[in-house]
Amino acid sequence: MNAALAGLAELTPASVQAPANIVARARAIGAEIAARHAPDVDRDGRFPIEAFEALRAEKLLGVMIPAELGGGGASLFDVAAACHALARGCAATGMIYAMHQIQIACLVNHGGNGWHRELMQRIAAGQLLLGSATTEKETGGDIRNSVCAVQADQEAGGDRFTLAKNASVISYGDQSDVILVTARRNPDAPSSDQVLVVVTKDDYRLEKTSLWDAMGMRGTCSDGYRLEAAGVLDQILPLSYADLSAQTMLPVTHILWSSTWLGIAADAVSRARAFVRSEAKRKPGTTPASAVRLAEATAKLQQMKAVILAAIRQYELACGSPERLTSLSFATAMGTLKVTTSELVREVVEASIRTCGLAGYRNDTPYSLGRHLRDAHSAALMIGNDRIMSHISTQLLVQRDGSGAFE
Ligand SMILES: Cc1cc2nc3c(=O)[nH]c(=O)nc-3n(C[C@H](O)[C@H](O)[C@H](O)COP(=O)(O)OP(=O)(O)OC[C@H]3O[C@@H](n4cnc5c(N)ncnc54)[C@H](O)[C@@H]3O)c2cc1C
Repeated sequence: MNAALAGLAELTPASVQAPANIVARARAIGAEIAARHAPDVDRDGRFPIEAFEALRAEKLLGVMIPAELGGGGASLFDVAAACHALARGCAATGMIYAMHQIQIACLVNHGGNGWHRELMQRIAAGQLLLGSATTEKETGGDIRNSVCAVQADQEAGGDRFTLAKNASVISYGDQSDVILVTARRNPDAPSSDQVLVVVTKDDYRLEKTSLWDAMGMRGTCSDGYRLEAAGVLDQILPLSYADLSAQTMLPVTHILWSSTWLGIAADAVSRARAFVRSEAKRKPGTTPASAVRLAEATAKLQQMKAVILAAIRQYELACGSPERLTSLSFATAMGTLKVTTSELVREVVEASIRTCGLAGYRNDTPYSLGRHLRDAHSAALMIGNDRIMSHISTQLLVQRDGSGAFE
């Protein structure tokens, strides 16, 4: 592979290579299975079942769970590289894998009690798939506020709860074995006093309220549901959602989403490069005019890669220090990461389409980029960039300008 187009894994120093070669296994599944089924996953808007059967067979769903609980103990870098590798073949597969691992990270970092540890063992042993219900019909993309609330079940002695949520989007809800749900701490709590509730298939009932027929990311099957759940209070992660989001959910989400989008961008540039090479073969001794656009796409791809690697490093440096993880400068870095990569993925795909011309615009050539463009457009909407920028602009008003370049 050309070094300039190498994925995240190729940039890894040998000393931090993934255990048991997680990245190589994800790359094989992405290239051989996810890529083969990507056109019909997209066309039919169906779950990428073949890729997930392979991920289960390779035990790649539990890789981030600690080894003592039966998982692979993989680092965030390993998982980011796996998301990238899978998304190169099929963006929906990469995104589902990313969303699953984000939930795992929340459980691993914040689920300390016996119930959570036993669930992690079950996830690793059974290769269970985790989904997320943060978006609510009443609050839309404002996921830091909830209308639904955890209701203590007094009749059951006070150690049980019930919860009902109008979840307007739960990706792969039909395929999920466990769902992490945001809700107000209790019915009297303000909308921003949220907790994250872990419910398993035995605890919840889903009633479908809308179908996912979208422009792109069609294989994520992001249908809407009414979720009704009941369980024991131990299932609720103890840290407030505000802190849990700052320390884990938000940074891990933005790093893994960005890595998935990098996979879309990398595949688009690969196709553009193949097109330019085929043009060069047709007219030996000349550099095709389209090569300039390829250089532009490549430069933007490198930019994406650089900001993701910097963010992973920043996260690693901040890990273990709740003070750093909840600092405004860290939140700004992770917010701008998402906004930057979500814009760049679209720009890379657009430059790749310009490189290939009609061959990229058509749906029936080896250089087709329509699916990539449609998938890339979801990036700016997954928690709207304008919403994030408006939040960051408020933070900047109160943020001290004291942090060093490498903090
Ligand atoms: C592929 C995909 C998969 C998803 N999977 C899940 C899932 O599994 N679980 C889940 O819970 N959710 C999921 N979501 C939903 C996602 O997390 C967001 O909640 C959703 O994309 C936001 O939708 P919205 O644009 O309707 O909402 P809003 O964020 O309400 O935005 C509506 C519009 O208002 C603008 N806007 C909002 N606030 C501001 C502001 N302060 N300043 C300026 N403009 C603003 C936005 O930019 C946007 O144009 C998924 C979304 C996608 C695309």
